[in-house]
Amino acid sequence: MSKTTGGDIRAELGLRPVINVSGTMTSLGASIVVPEAVSAVNRVLTEFVELGDLLRRASRTIAELTGAEAGFVTASCSAGISLAVAAAITGDNLWAIEQLPDTGTLRNEVLIQTGHIVSYGAPVDQAIRLAGAKVVPVGQATSAHGYQLAGAINDRTVAAVFVVSHHVVDYGQIPLKTFAEICHARGVPVIVDAASEYDLRGFLADGADVVLYSGHKFLGGPTSGICAGNKDFIRNIYLQNRGIGRGMKVGKEGIAGVIAALEAWKTRDHAAVRAREKRALDLWVETLEGKAGVAASIVPDPTSNPLDRLKVTVDPEAARITAWDLARAMATGPRPVIVRDHEAEQGYVLLDPCNLHEGEESIVAERLLEELERARQSNDIISTPLAEHLLALEKSILKWPD
Ligand SMILES: *Cc1c(COP(=O)(O)O)cnc(C)c1O
Repeated sequence: MSKTTGGDIRAELGLRPVINVSGTMTSLGASIVVPEAVSAVNRVLTEFVELGDLLRRASRTIAELTGAEAGFVTASCSAGISLAVAAAITGDNLWAIEQLPDTGTLRNEVLIQTGHIVSYGAPVDQAIRLAGAKVVPVGQATSAHGYQLAGAINDRTVAAVFVVSHHVVDYGQIPLKTFAEICHARGVPVIVDAASEYDLRGFLADGADVVLYSGHKFLGGPTSGICAGNKDFIRNIYLQNRGIGRGMKVGKEGIAGVIAALEAWKTRDHAAVRAREKRALDLWVETLEGKAGVAASIVPDPTSNPLDRLKVTVDPEAARITAWDLARAMATGPRPVIVRDHEAEQGYVLLDPCNLHEGEESIVAERLLEELERARQSNDIISTPLAEHLLALEKSILKWPD
């Protein structure tokens, strides 16, 4: 295992040594930060810097990688949504920036397709409202049309938000290009939330005025949000640090870390990363071959990121366990493995290979066998009623810090 210095800090803090096959989850620490970013964070922490200059430097790196005119770093992609909406509302009016979330007589309606109003751990519409905006949904959950978007634009409209994510409804939505054309024809800027997307250029090319990424997801940077777009818009986002952005600011370590992660992205051996992920997937397919009640298949990422996952479909009768009970069992014991289980009620879990340390794929395989064997030998089918399972999840949220 690649632990930078001094061994595994988790034991020291009394934390479980979880293995992450669920994806880049905030609740698990997002991603493995790349060594280049770890080093940059370390080296800047003890120095003074002129923050405006460090952010200028970040702007140049973001511009180079995205093809945008300028870039900015904030606390998270979620913060980026709030600040981009704030920028659309206030422009460079310093007084208005200090008044938010009160928008006074300024335009403050923000359009978003109903099928894009998702939760990434918090509601996207709340990130919009934090800036003082009023959210105006367009269309219904599973259908939105250009005429509905055009019809919703009025003289109060200040921006439109477009979300790219596996969370959004994946059919019946207006494609980004069309969405941007309709908005631009009426002078409305388009903010794209592409938090988890590997594509650093496509959304700007398709018409985004500002595109937002998480620095701590696929890029392997420290916790941060990256904004890329035209210079005036990005400046107006930067200016929000004099207002609501203050509580969303990122320190020197976050900014230096993002610069390093972006630089490393340029030279990362993406083919080697994919090959490593493929080896993990192949191992798991082999491991599950012929096991009663489970069917494994390699599935592509729903938003076309260059990343495949293993879909493990569980037949509770034959496997003697439900998908959600298997997920829970995998997460217990001395070698806890956290699988991707947000669709478990449909009878499957996913294994995401993009956050594994060397050798962990074998532990995942062993744990799968262990838990499937335990289920096979149990007298009763391990089956928590779904409603009970969901209620228990909800209840456990309120237990913290106990
Ligand atoms: C993860 C995610 C976010 C939130 O990103 P943070 O950087 O963690 O705030 C926002 N939108 C989408 C689509 C996401 O997947």
